[in-house]
Amino acid sequence: MFKETIDFVRGLYDHKEFIPLHEPYFNGKEKDYLIDCIDSTFVSSVGKYVDRFEQMIVEFTGAKYAVATVNGTAALHIALLLSGVKKEDEVITQPLTFVATCNAISYIGARPLFIDVDRETLSLSPEKLEDFLVNHTLQQDGFCKNKVSGRTIKAVVPMHTFGHPAKLKELSELASNHNIALIEDAAESLGSYYKKKHTGLFGAMGTLSFNGNKTITTGGGGMIITNDENIAKRAKYLTTTAKVPHKWEFYHDEVGFNYRLPNLNAALGCAQMELLPKILGNKRSTALMYQEFFCQMDEVEFIAEPSECDSNYWLNAIVLKNREIRDSFLEATNRSGIMTRPIWKLMNHLPMFRNSQSGDLENSEWLEQRVVNIPSSVR
Ligand SMILES: *Cc1c(COP(=O)(O)O)cnc(C)c1O
Repeated sequence: MFKETIDFVRGLYDHKEFIPLHEPYFNGKEKDYLIDCIDSTFVSSVGKYVDRFEQMIVEFTGAKYAVATVNGTAALHIALLLSGVKKEDEVITQPLTFVATCNAISYIGARPLFIDVDRETLSLSPEKLEDFLVNHTLQQDGFCKNKVSGRTIKAVVPMHTFGHPAKLKELSELASNHNIALIEDAAESLGSYYKKKHTGLFGAMGTLSFNGNKTITTGGGGMIITNDENIAKRAKYLTTTAKVPHKWEFYHDEVGFNYRLPNLNAALGCAQMELLPKILGNKRSTALMYQEFFCQMDEVEFIAEPSECDSNYWLNAIVLKNREIRDSFLEATNRSGIMTRPIWKLMNHLPMFRNSQSGDLENSEWLEQRVVNIPSSVR
């Protein structure tokens, strides 16, 4: 199985000596826009590329508003603040995620509360969430109180793992029935749709990332998307040092953040957005080839897009039989120049989140031992 897989991946990527997990794809007007941006001298916090990039995200996702930020973690931080999360509040999320989700929660002094994922979507499970909310919370003065800790649960943050959308209809109903804000960590899911609607638009806000390993990149960057005008205005204001607009005066009326995306990065983003449809088509064709290849193997399960969803197939993933086979697979592929990586360690296994409250995490624990990402760059 290892040798066949190695040969197959080699063939997909032109028999290159080293095949990375995911490299950026620059094949459009990146250099033109960067040079134009430098020539304009507007490389920093103001400039036309920021507005243009935000507008392109609006048009692509169908969001009413988009606010660019310096990275995806900053976008999440602001989204959580704007949904009313305060120190000592709790935020529900999944343990199977990149650490940024929990870091953003911690920046506010709030606490993550871990609920399991689905095996099918690798993302937050509505059944497990419902079970937790029904058995361990109560409503008090319009807020959701955790009966165990006595704290208020202000937000729930599902993350669309590797671009596969969570069950958003069920999750958004649960959130609104229990007076909890829904914030989607859509860092990995630009170009992923749930029932034809773009991910990130099912709750109060969604956040995107344009880090170097994501579907498109600005070097570093992020975005808050929302349909709420007031939230968009507040997001812009808070991410730009809470400056009250004035022709010359520097007047700030609360503690803000220097979280704006530099124009230089936005220039790269505009060029990347022009390539996005092509990138998504290419990724889908790679995923279909993997799917066809792995479906002949009993020992491997390829993670395909959930039903009624279109995934961007950002990172392809397979499930192996057990931890030992996974470790041998990682060993064999990496030794032969094919980069593969295990899924993240669960957040509740990291020292800073070890004492967080959790529901039963059976699926997350199971997946943590078995899931491996395989090369997924544009070919
Ligand atoms: C990439 C990513 C982020 C944001 O990361 P930045 O590097 O700050 O842009 C957040 N959450 C998840 C799940 C991610 O994969």
